[in-house]
Amino acid sequence: MDCDIAIVGAGPAGLALARSLADTSLHIVLLERQSCEQLADPVFDGRDIALTYLSRRLLCQLGAWEHIAPAEIAPLQCARVLDGDSFRTLDFGDARTDAEPLGWLIANRLIRKALYKVTAPLDRVALRCGVAVERVVADADGVHLALADGTTLRARLLVGADTRFSTTRRHMGIGATMKDFGRVAIVCRMQHALPHEHTAWECFHYGRTLAILPMPGDASSIVITVPADQAPDILAMEGEEFAQDVACRFGYRLGDMRLVSERIAYPLVAVHADRFVAQRFALIGDAAVGMHPVTAHGFNLGLSGVDLLAGEIRSQWQRGADIASATVLARYQSRHRLATLPLFHGTNGIVSLFTDDRLPARLARKAVLNLSERLPPVRWAIRHKLVSRDHVGGSLLTLLP
Ligand SMILES: Cc1cc2nc3c(=O)[nH]c(=O)nc-3n(C[C@H](O)[C@H](O)[C@H](O)COP(=O)(O)OP(=O)(O)OC[C@H]3O[C@@H](n4cnc5c(N)ncnc54)[C@H](O)[C@@H]3O)c2cc1C
Repeated sequence: MDCDIAIVGAGPAGLALARSLADTSLHIVLLERQSCEQLADPVFDGRDIALTYLSRRLLCQLGAWEHIAPAEIAPLQCARVLDGDSFRTLDFGDARTDAEPLGWLIANRLIRKALYKVTAPLDRVALRCGVAVERVVADADGVHLALADGTTLRARLLVGADTRFSTTRRHMGIGATMKDFGRVAIVCRMQHALPHEHTAWECFHYGRTLAILPMPGDASSIVITVPADQAPDILAMEGEEFAQDVACRFGYRLGDMRLVSERIAYPLVAVHADRFVAQRFALIGDAAVGMHPVTAHGFNLGLSGVDLLAGEIRSQWQRGADIASATVLARYQSRHRLATLPLFHGTNGIVSLFTDDRLPARLARKAVLNLSERLPPVRWAIRHKLVSRDHVGGSLLTLLP
């Protein structure tokens, strides 16, 4: 056997799994199609990640949190939801009175960079960059990989962490439920004249949604969600015209705004794999569950799945048992599916409701917002869930009612 575990994809999920198992003697090979230089210093990708308490704890345990400069971490104190043309907002948290934030916002590239820093130097982790997997064959003893560079690799366990459109998942014959929203998220960074007071806004304007997430300084992460056919025109707008448009749609709540990054478009497709495991194989991260970003779930769920799988593998290793036994993999699958399936379908349902501009949907979401607003216990429960340190509870899904 060439290694104990081969992980395809050295994104945040793949790196976190390799780092999680650093306290074992397991040999791990990470296979990544990007170059090592790209991994070591990832470029801006427009994703700013809202992290839960559980994710912060896990990143601290992995030693990654300390590699992110405090000045790059933005606490999220308050979240406000605005529906259609209404001036009323549904608020969670209070920037002035709540001592504890709801979560933290950090640029995805900094999370990737920190995880790379704590994983790449590990003796028992070998990073093979610029490679692609061509063929996978699993049997009772192990998994055989044929790589595009003509080499082969044998591992006891193969883990797919290669994005929501995972080719490893396909190689293993695992299908997935895919929900194409027919929409595109355009993301960028903007600076503004007025302070954001650590408040996130989710504005469900008719025809498009606008999320404004507080980043360090007087800057925010902007996520505009529009039907796919409108995206090219928005991307083609001059910077000033674009900034003026965003500021105007946001009612100048942050004063004048200025575009300070490129705009990046992500087609919105949510994915839930039909199975998370197969013979000597497991899926993690977006390859298992790729969420719609509006609920800020993806990486949070990915990290909690990594923690579950690493825990199962570690306890098998401690007992000198097979780290890829069917029982162990089935246990990971059932726990992670239990946590992710309701959130996946719940998020998709909420997204559909909040982006449907027909009258019944408009009325339904006004009713949902009214109910949440009128029942303080509902909002209390949502806040409590947000700051939970537990596995299933800690999720920013609840930023939406
Ligand atoms: C606009 C936007 C905003 C988001 N906001 C949030 C948020 O607020 N909170 C949150 O929790 N999540 C958020 N997410 C989701 C989060 O970014 C993802 O869940 C997370 O990046 C998934 O990590 P991953 O490692 O599974 O996959 P990726 O980040 O997709 O990494 C996969 C890696 O695999 C490599 N790879 C791909 N194919 C192959 C192959 N065939 N062979 C070898 N390597 C391969 C890729 O190069 C990459 O390095 C957001 C996503 C988007 C798009």
